Amino acid sequence: MRFAYDSDVEAFREEVRQFIKAELPPEEIRARRGYEGGFSTYKEEYDYTMNFQKKLVEKGWLAMAWPKEFGGSGASHMRQLVYNEEMAYHGAPVGNMGIQWVGPALMLYGTPEQKEKFIPRITGADDWWCTLYSEPGAGSDLASLQTRAVRDGDEWVLNGQKIWTSGGHLADWGWLAARSDPDAPKHRGITMFVVDMKSPGITVRPLINMANRHGFNEVFFQDVRIPNSQVVGEVNRGWYHMAVALDFERSGVGAYAGGRRNIERLVSIAKANPELVARRPSVRYELADRMTEVNVGTFLSYRVAHMQGVGLLPNYEASVSKLFGSEMGQRIALTGMHLLGQAGELRDGSKGEIHDLATGYLQSASSTVAAGTSEIQRGIIATRGLGLPRG
Ligand SMILES: Cc1cc2nc3c(=O)[nH]c(=O)nc-3n(C[C@H](O)[C@H](O)[C@H](O)COP(=O)(O)OP(=O)(O)OC[C@H]3O[C@@H](n4cnc5c(N)ncnc54)[C@H](O)[C@@H]3O)c2cc1C
Repeated sequence: MRFAYDSDVEAFREEVRQFIKAELPPEEIRARRGYEGGFSTYKEEYDYTMNFQKKLVEKGWLAMAWPKEFGGSGASHMRQLVYNEEMAYHGAPVGNMGIQWVGPALMLYGTPEQKEKFIPRITGADDWWCTLYSEPGAGSDLASLQTRAVRDGDEWVLNGQKIWTSGGHLADWGWLAARSDPDAPKHRGITMFVVDMKSPGITVRPLINMANRHGFNEVFFQDVRIPNSQVVGEVNRGWYHMAVALDFERSGVGAYAGGRRNIERLVSIAKANPELVARRPSVRYELADRMTEVNVGTFLSYRVAHMQGVGLLPNYEASVSKLFGSEMGQRIALTGMHLLGQAGELRDGSKGEIHDLATGYLQSASSTVAAGTSEIQRGIIATRGLGLPRG
C-alpha cells in the first residue's frame, strides 16, 4: 500500500514551508522567548501571534477551512490537514478560537447583523476571542454551569464566575454559555452570548500555571448588562449550539506533528551528548517507542481527516486521536526528562542548563485535561465506539 498526497497538495505543503521559513523568527529565538505556538499568553507573545496571523490573513490562509461566502477559501480537508501539520511541526502561532469555533457557530446561528459585525473582524484577525464555558463546579459536566443570565427588557444581566479562561486577559470578545432558565432540565436552560470583555462589571484575574505561565484566568461577572442583540441562536438552546460549535478540522494532527519535531530534537540532543545515553541506555528504546507512537498516531489523525473529506462525521475516531495524541505528548516530555536526567529540571536560563525541556514537561500535564479529559475521551470510545453500555 502506498500513502501519498496529490501533487497539488504536496506543492501546497512546500508553499506553506517556504512561508513559515520566511515569516517565523528562527527557532532558537522563539525558544529563548518562550513562544509556544498555542494561544497567546503574555503581551509580547500576543503581539507576535497577531503579527503572524495578520500575515496569514494576507495569504488567505487564516480562515482557509471556512466557506467562501464567509471570507474563507473553502479549502479541502487534505489541504487543511497539511497546513495544520506544517504549522504545528514548526510551532507556528495559529491557534485562534474566533476562527476555530466562534465564527463557525455564528455562521450557523448568528443573526445577519451579528454575522456582518463579527465575521469580517474574525477573518481579518482584528478581534481576539476567549471561550467562557468552564466554571469552578462545571468542567466535564458542563451542563451544570451556574453563571446566570436574566432578561431585563432589551438587556440581559449576567452574574457568576468562569474559570480556566485561556487568553481572557487579552481578549476583545468572549463566547459565553450562561444559564437562562434555572427551572428547566439542565441541558435545556443554557443560552449562548457574545460579550465585550471590556463591559463594566467584568473582572479578569490571572491564574498562573505550574510552569509559571499566565495563560488561564478566572473571569467574574457582576451585574454585567449586555443587549439582547448579543444572544446567539435560540434562548435556552445554547447547549445544542455549543455542541456543534466545533472546529472544522478535528483530526488532532497538530499533536503528532509537534510531537515528531520534539522527538527529532531529543534525538539530536542524544547524538550530540553520548554521555547522556550511556548513563541511561534504555532511553534509546524510549525514543524508538515514541517515534513509533508518532507514526501510528499520525495515521489516526489522517483517518479523521479522510472521514471529514468524504463527508462522514468523525465521532469516537476524533476521540481516539485526541486521547492518543495528548497522552503521547506527555510520554515524549517524560522521555526528554529521562534523557537529560537531573539537568532536565533546570529551566528559564538556569546556570548549567543544557536545554529547557522542563517547561514543556510541566506544560504537557494540561494536555490530557484541556478540550475534554482522557477519561471523557475513553467514555466516548467505550460507548459510541465499542457500543458498551453507559456506566
Ligand atoms: C490548557 C487548558 C486550557 C483550557 N482553556 C479553557 C477555556 O479557554 N475556556 C474554558 O471554558 N475552559 C477551558 N479549560 C477548562 C477545561 O475545559 C476543563 O478543565 C475540562 O473540561 C475538565 O473540567 P474540570 O477541570 O472541571 O475537571 P472535572 O470535570 O471536575 O474532572 C475532574 C476529574 O474527574 C474526571 N471525570 C469527570 N467526569 C467524568 C466522567 N463522566 N467519567 C470519568 N471521569 C470523569 C476527569 O477526567 C478528571 O480526571 C481549559 C483547560 C486546560 C487544561
